[in-house]
Amino acid sequence: MTFSIHGLAVSKGIAIGRAVLVASSRVDVAHYFIDASAVVSEIDRVRKGRDTVVEEIFRLQASIAHMGPKEAPHELSALLDVHLMLLQDEELIGGVKRWITERLYNAEWALTTQLEIIARQFDEMEDEYLRERKADLEQIAERVLRAMKNTGSPLAVHSTRSPRKSSQQDLLLDDTVDVPLILIAHDLSPADMLQFKQSVFAGFITDVGGKTSHTAIVARSMDIPAVVGARQASQLVRQDDWVIIDGDAGVVIVDPSSIILAEYGFKQRQGELERGRLQRLLHTPAVTLDGEKVQLLANIEMPEDAPAALTAGALGVGLFRSEFLFMGRQGRLPGEEEQYQAYRRAVEGMQGLPVTIRTVDVGADKPLDSTLRDDAHLNPALGLRAIRWSLADPAMFQTQLRAILRAAAHGQVHLLVPMLAHAREIRQTLAHLDHARAMLDNRGVAYGPIKLGAMIEIPAAALSLRLFLKHFDFLSIGTNDLIQYTLAIDRADESVAHLYDPLHPAVLRLMADTIAECRAQGKGVSVCGEMAGDVGLTRLLLGLGLRSFSMHPAQILAVKQEVLRADTGKLALWAQQVLEAEDPAQAMAAA
Ligand code: PEP
Ligand code: MG
Repeated sequence: MTFSIHGLAVSKGIAIGRAVLVASSRVDVAHYFIDASAVVSEIDRVRKGRDTVVEEIFRLQASIAHMGPKEAPHELSALLDVHLMLLQDEELIGGVKRWITERLYNAEWALTTQLEIIARQFDEMEDEYLRERKADLEQIAERVLRAMKNTGSPLAVHSTRSPRKSSQQDLLLDDTVDVPLILIAHDLSPADMLQFKQSVFAGFITDVGGKTSHTAIVARSMDIPAVVGARQASQLVRQDDWVIIDGDAGVVIVDPSSIILAEYGFKQRQGELERGRLQRLLHTPAVTLDGEKVQLLANIEMPEDAPAALTAGALGVGLFRSEFLFMGRQGRLPGEEEQYQAYRRAVEGMQGLPVTIRTVDVGADKPLDSTLRDDAHLNPALGLRAIRWSLADPAMFQTQLRAILRAAAHGQVHLLVPMLAHAREIRQTLAHLDHARAMLDNRGVAYGPIKLGAMIEIPAAALSLRLFLKHFDFLSIGTNDLIQYTLAIDRADESVAHLYDPLHPAVLRLMADTIAECRAQGKGVSVCGEMAGDVGLTRLLLGLGLRSFSMHPAQILAVKQEVLRADTGKLALWAQQVLEAEDPAQAMAAA
C-alpha cells in the first residue's frame, strides 16, 4: 500500500529505488558490491564467521558444564542455546545467501540486511520473552561481524556501481541488480555520511536532523536527493521496499503505485534536462545585467572534492571544512605532515585559484566520531566547538596552523577562523599564528603568505564589526550558525525546524550590516552558509550588496543563472524594502 512520509527537503532531485535500512549502530559496516565471481567465497566468509561463533559457544558450554549453579546459572546455559538456535536459523542463512547471490552485496552488508529483517519480526511478536530475544540477535550479529574481520579483509570489487537511472520501465522490470538503492537510517553523523560519499547509494533518508545540520550539508555536497527529519521512516519502511525521494518537497513515498511512479519518473527526467541546460552556462562569466562581477566559490569537505569544484566552474574554494579530515578516526588526529599534504592537494587541485581553509570546527552536531556524541553537555551547540575547541587544545591548533601555512607555499591560501566572538579569542588566534610562523622559521621549513578571515556566525560578532575589520582581511558570513544563534534554534533539531528562518528580519539586518560595513572599508565579504546556494535568495543577497557566494559545487550553475538575470541597481532598492518589512518573506513574494 502506498503511503508518504514528510520530512525536510535537504538535497534536491528525485531518487527512485529500493530501501536499504541500516541500523545507526551498523553504519560503519562496509557497503559495496562484489563481483559475481566472488559470490561463493563471500558466502563462505559468512559461514566461517558463523562457524567460529558456534565453536566459541560450544567451548563455553563445555566449560560451564563442570561449574556449579553459582558460577554458571541455569539461565546462562539456556541463553547459549538460544544463541546457537539463532545462529543456525535457516531464515538467517538463507536470507544472507540471497542478498549475496541476487544483489551482489558484500558479506557484512548481506548479514546486517538480513538481521534487520529478522529484528523487525521480533519487534512484532506478541510474546514479551520472544520480543526480548532481539537483544540476543544483536549480540550474535556483533560476534559474527567481529569473527568475519578475521576471515580476510573483504575485497571491494565495486565501491560504487553506477546505478541505472530508474525510470518507470526499469521498475516494472523489477530487476534484482542494477536497481538504485536508497539508504534509510534513524540518524547518520557527518562522519558516517563521509564514508558514504563514494558509495552505492542514490539517495538518503534519516528520521532526525535539521535542514542545515552537518549531515544534511554532506548529503547536499554529494548532490543526491535526501530527506532528513522524516521522523518514523526507519520504522515504517521495510528492507527492500520501493521508495521515491522527492528531495525538492522533502517527501518520501513508499511502495508507490504505477501512476505515482510514472509521475516521478517524468519529474526525474525533467530535472535531468534542466541540469543539462544549466551546463551551457559553465563558461559564462558570472556578471549581472548591469555589469557587476560576482564571485561564485565552492564549499568542499575533502581535498578530493577540488576537481568537482573546478568542473562546476567555481573560481576558488570559499570554504574547506577541514574538520572532515579529523572525523571518523577513533580520536587519532591527523598530524602536521598528513594535514599539510591534504591542504596541499586541495591547493594544487584548484590550479592557482584561491582556497579558503577553515580551521577545525568540531563539536555540537560534528563529533569527531559518531560514537563520541556529546551527551555530557546540556547544550553542545553553545559549548566547546570550533575556535573554542582549538584554543582549548593549543598543540592541536598549532599543528593545524603550521600545516596550513606550509600549504600556502603552493598557492593562494586564505585561512578562515570559525565562531569567533571575543576580542580575547581574536588576540589568542593571532598570537597562535605568530607562534606557528616562528616555529616554522626555527625549523627552516618553507611557508607562504595567507589572507586571514573570520567567520561571522555569532550575533555578537556581527555586532562588533569594527573589532573584526581591524584584525582581518575578509569576513565570511556563516548563515547556518548565524541563524541558529540569532534565533536560538538548534539547527540539527527537526522539532524546531519550522522556526529556522533565514528571512527573519534580525538575521537579514545582521547580514546587511556586515556586508555594508565590509564594502565601506574595502574588505572582502562572502556568504558561505547554505543561504549562498539557495537560488530563491540570490537576488536578495545581490540586492544587499553581496558579490561573493560560496556553496556546494552542484549549486553553482543555478545560482549563476540568477546572477545573469539580475540588475543589482534595481535589486538594491528592492532589498532595502525587504529589509524594512515586518515579514520579509511576504515582501519578497509580493515583488
Ligand atoms: C555556517 O555556519 O554557515 C557555516 C558555513 O559553517 P558550518 O555549517 O560548517 O557550521
Ligand atoms: Mg558554522
